[in-house]
Amino acid sequence: MNENPTGFDTLAIRAGQDHDPTTGAVIPPLHLSSTYAQDGIGGLRNGYEYGRSGNPTRDALQEQLAALEGGRFGLSFASGLAAEDALLRAALRPGDTVLMGDDVYGGTYRLVSRVLAPWGVKLRIVDITDTEAVRAALAAEPAAMLWIETPSNPLMRISDIAALAEIGHAAGSTVVVDNTFASPALQQPLALGADVVVHSTTKYLGGHSDVVGGAVVLNDEELHEQVKFQQFAAGAVSGPHDAWLTSRGLKTLGIRMERHSRNAGLVAGFLGEQDGVAAVYYPGLESHPGHAVAARQMRGFGGMVSLALPTGEQARRFAESLELFTLAESLGGVESLVNYPDAMTHASVRGTELAVPEEVVRLSVGIETAEDLLADLAQALRRV
Ligand SMILES: *Cc1c(COP(=O)(O)O)cnc(C)c1O
Repeated sequence: MNENPTGFDTLAIRAGQDHDPTTGAVIPPLHLSSTYAQDGIGGLRNGYEYGRSGNPTRDALQEQLAALEGGRFGLSFASGLAAEDALLRAALRPGDTVLMGDDVYGGTYRLVSRVLAPWGVKLRIVDITDTEAVRAALAAEPAAMLWIETPSNPLMRISDIAALAEIGHAAGSTVVVDNTFASPALQQPLALGADVVVHSTTKYLGGHSDVVGGAVVLNDEELHEQVKFQQFAAGAVSGPHDAWLTSRGLKTLGIRMERHSRNAGLVAGFLGEQDGVAAVYYPGLESHPGHAVAARQMRGFGGMVSLALPTGEQARRFAESLELFTLAESLGGVESLVNYPDAMTHASVRGTELAVPEEVVRLSVGIETAEDLLADLAQALRRV
């Protein structure tokens, strides 16, 4: 056997998942213990002391996360926002600026604008799909951090990670990519030049809508130590059960993303042909403005599709008329979901520069039989 397998699916199944040395259990055990016996004072076994500072189940997941993003270090947190918060507090100081896109996850915007801003972190918003606008914004005033989310939520805008990493680095910014929508199966920001990847593992990485979690993956040793210190000192760690479920979900990420992408492509194509649909937002469509960049930096276009109905009223009715697509927040699970951003996921950014048009509906296309999904969309469109 190859000594160091590097295939994505092999890493997903094997990285950090060594058999248990004492019993040979093929699946690493779930370690629930909050504390660890010491062999004499300070005599720790493999460094384990207390559950917040270290846990073998969490360590296994962290190794798996790092391997899948092609990074040196992975850190797992209680939620995606906890991961973002630890990273932001580790990397920024009062007076520093974060430059981010106008279509980022609403919770990220809320975290910076309402939690960190009172502590002196400044936020500036730019059209991050426009690389020249980002270059100009950084030339006008540098930013300690450039925050990229691609594809973005919910309008599936695409940003050129490699170009933005170069522009960000030239201006001295730490370049962060929220890779939640693509997942490492489809897009590897560190290989494209980004410094840090963040995830809501609640979504595709966990993949089964049964666990909330987040991750930070990066290569820089010093920043890793700082984020790890935040994880330990502020304590937003993932619990062992959550880490175990996320590890299990990760093993099938590759094949799930293939099917998510295939189904979403069929859904986007179908919606594009319907008279009652005003617009379809999916980077896999050649008509999508970010299609060429997405085709270059992604290995598939993912499972998220948004659409616009002619009016907000129709959008609401469409979202409420779907039956197989469950009306719920979140995304990335095996089951299809529909979300009405204006009043659900993005209600917190209503009236701000990040507000989502009220005609837009977002679909998280699951891995069910595609024909059943198309039939559900067709019946809901007849009812709007
Ligand atoms: C859900 C989500 C988050 C936040 O993650 P939580 O696990 O809900 O805290 C961040 N970014 C994106 C793109 C998301 O979809």
